[in-house]
Amino acid sequence: SDLNQLIESARRFRDQACVVDFDGPQGERRLSFADMFAWRDRLAGHLGIGRGDRVAICMRNRAEWIAAFMAVMKLGGVAVLLNSRGSAGDLLSMVDEVTPSLVLADAERAALLREAGYDGRLLDMSEPLEDRSTVEGDGLIARPDDPCAILFTSGTTGRVKGAVLSHRSLITGLLGTQLTGAMVLHNLAREYGMPVEALALKLPPQASLLVSPLFHISGLGSGFLAPLLSGGKIVIMRRWNAEEAVSLIERERVTQLSTVPTMLWDMVHRARTVEADLSSVRNIGSGGQALPLNLLEAVQALCPHAMIGVGYGMTETSGAIAQAVGADFLRAKASAGRVLPLVDVRIEGPSGNVCGVNETGEILVRSAMLMTGYWNRPDDTAKSFTADGWLRTGDIGYQDEDGYIYIVDRAKDMVISGGENIYCAEVERVLSEMPQVTECATFGIPDDRLGEALVAVVQAEGLDELSVIQWVAGRLAPYKAPTRVAFSRDPLPRNHAEKINKIALRALWPELAGKN
Ligand code: ATP
Ligand code: MG
Repeated sequence: SDLNQLIESARRFRDQACVVDFDGPQGERRLSFADMFAWRDRLAGHLGIGRGDRVAICMRNRAEWIAAFMAVMKLGGVAVLLNSRGSAGDLLSMVDEVTPSLVLADAERAALLREAGYDGRLLDMSEPLEDRSTVEGDGLIARPDDPCAILFTSGTTGRVKGAVLSHRSLITGLLGTQLTGAMVLHNLAREYGMPVEALALKLPPQASLLVSPLFHISGLGSGFLAPLLSGGKIVIMRRWNAEEAVSLIERERVTQLSTVPTMLWDMVHRARTVEADLSSVRNIGSGGQALPLNLLEAVQALCPHAMIGVGYGMTETSGAIAQAVGADFLRAKASAGRVLPLVDVRIEGPSGNVCGVNETGEILVRSAMLMTGYWNRPDDTAKSFTADGWLRTGDIGYQDEDGYIYIVDRAKDMVISGGENIYCAEVERVLSEMPQVTECATFGIPDDRLGEALVAVVQAEGLDELSVIQWVAGRLAPYKAPTRVAFSRDPLPRNHAEKINKIALRALWPELAGKN
């Protein structure tokens, strides 16, 4: 079975609202499911691609992006989701790496690529479709292990890598999230003493706010495919903007959004300022990074009716491999959720041993959700998998007796200083609890005496280096305190997934790496 068959099943929602897209040259557009399928079929008639052909999608979040993805799926193509935020040079180097037979772009990116000298096939999606040919019927059926899409990682730890996801991995990813949803509904129905069907009928129609880029796994999975398949309305944002998000939630009666913690902070501040009514929101998901406790409390106060959930996953696993929602999450607020039914997790100790309950090590995953490998990177692919098919996530964590996963840090963010392990994430959590601190990041620098020394960059008002160091030393083992602290007036640099870009940080504060 393939993703196109699943998408095809959403045709039954006919006249229900499917996509709401604001601004852009066309102004506000509201498209039903019937509109989207008609558009997809016409577009498919213009692509001239065959089964297995790679088609790059290079657009900001917009209705065209969704139509393009659906059309590529219908023809059995492989959708290559390019980061639309890049410069002309970035775009060109990505296109050179994946050598697509066709690029589908919006007007801005079509111009950028042409100016940069791209001379392959390119369709500017802002131009009207020339003739009236359409591709009728349900489309091609791919095999489960055929590649479906290539998605790039966020580049938090280095150069981005293209994860090749098969139909099997994407569909299993969607299924895992559906299972959590079904279990949550079951538990709620039990709590209220009513049948699940009766509970579902009481709920207002589903409206999802798309806040992540569509080229990222969370935008593709939770932001687009999940609502599409359940008949929900997708309210598209070009890119994250708290002011716009809050007003769209009020105007479109948004019921759910999948976020990263940074977005939640922005949203809390904005909603407080304008005293927004966010009562329509029933589900808020958070992932990509740990959800700090003080943020959880702020969100609960703002959206008292919303069920809050966390998820842990990565591009290489087609989305969340662990999740917990509502009461299930509140029982283990520091966790990143419970391992989903279709996933095996193994925690591996330093000597390759299998860790027991609550023992910390690297998280390994085996599941049908896994990518088949990195595009064009056989060495990276080989390094990422064990001989028996486990994916090395590069994340350090542990699992408790109830199956909840706790993420301690990324292995690459672990600093070894004077022979002691320091987890940046732990120090950052403590720093972010300082009232004056808005944002912070820590990283290791080479040090003659210690091997590595921990340093911090902090966005804060009215703090000096010593008070920051003392704050950490008073709360954690003293060797975990940063040896140097730099201050920033501006928010710290982030990548498209809104994660702090430590590579850029190192470049911005070369004095931190100065002589001892
Ligand atoms: P790159 O692999 O290019 O360095 P990236 O790992 O940030 O970038 P993604 O695939 O978008 O790219 O992110 C997955 C990573 O995000 C996970 O491996 C993990 O480190 C982190 N992560 C995801 N969810 C959580 C969570 N709930 N808590 C803590 N960390 C999380
Ligand atoms: Mg990664």
